[in-house]
Amino acid sequence: MKNLEELVRPNILALEPYSSARNEYSGKEARVFLDANENPYNGPFNRYPDPLQTELKTRLAQVKGVSPEQIFLGNGSDEAIDLAYRCFTRPGIDNVVAIEPTYGMYRVCADINDVEYRPVNLDEHFQMSADKMLEACDEKTKIVWICSPNNPTGNHIGQEEIIKVLQQFHGIVVLDEAYADFSRRPSFRLALQHFPNLIVMQTFSKAWGCAAIRLGMAFASKEIVDIYNKVKYPYNVNLLTQQHAMRALDDMESIEQWINLLLEERSIVMRAVQALPYCQQVFPTDANFFLTRVDDAQRVYNYLVDQGIIVRNRTRVQLCHNCLRITIGTKEENSTLIGALRRFV
Ligand SMILES: *Cc1c(COP(=O)(O)O)cnc(C)c1O
Repeated sequence: MKNLEELVRPNILALEPYSSARNEYSGKEARVFLDANENPYNGPFNRYPDPLQTELKTRLAQVKGVSPEQIFLGNGSDEAIDLAYRCFTRPGIDNVVAIEPTYGMYRVCADINDVEYRPVNLDEHFQMSADKMLEACDEKTKIVWICSPNNPTGNHIGQEEIIKVLQQFHGIVVLDEAYADFSRRPSFRLALQHFPNLIVMQTFSKAWGCAAIRLGMAFASKEIVDIYNKVKYPYNVNLLTQQHAMRALDDMESIEQWINLLLEERSIVMRAVQALPYCQQVFPTDANFFLTRVDDAQRVYNYLVDQGIIVRNRTRVQLCHNCLRITIGTKEENSTLIGALRRFV
């Protein structure tokens, strides 16, 4: 890996970050707050929230087995994705390399930041070749994007290939583990000490059932997290979100139960779809959704929409011709879907 100073955009390296009222006093016991032009009435919503979410990170650090300084929290993983571009890539100059197909936001954020996006196709088993990824990199490649379990394919990317990229690429490797809670594989966040160029992203939006509160996590070295914190909006995670996340962390049993239920339901739905006469293939998955190839994805999709059932039509995505991505819902929702699919002609 190159020195972090060589990878960070020069203007970001030199940036003097905004210093909020709440940043400046921190540390001392205080009882009268007349520093932030807040209204003294209407507590607790009158006060600006903790810009670094200290209490939440302390709690999360225990659950995730990392230290609080290795955690960045953002307005969804989407903020953490966009910040990777804003911290490390120079618009109009640098490029990023990503597996293809994958989550669409990596490309959208590249386009927004005027950064060249270099997709590298997965193989027919939706696996990544580290050599192909490394071949696509040059001196101007700042970030490699890997998503595992991958969206929309559902499968894990091979661990040895990920490690090879981590060891041989000189820039930042982002590993998006939005669906890690559904898999029994250990998360790469537990290997952060070995890979100073690694950013692992996870989210409250999927297994944790909190998509509405918009809370994403990035785990990385303290040095990388410090750069993220310099660039983010001062109060990027609001008080309601921080409070609700604390409540979710107090009820980890519910999350475990949801995961087990969804995994059971997943095998039922996958078996039912596999048995459909117009189903060509059901792809293996490590997430709370799966990809299936059918004879005519557009027709099945339109038919389901007519029945009030929405799945994701991925037929126009690389390597996903005639594929539908199906999320696992409640028992009732899943049997509604299966019933409808069985009546399709
Ligand atoms: C759903 C998803 C996310 C979650 O994004 P949030 O902004 O945290 O809701 C991130 N990455 C991938 C691959 C996803 O599928």
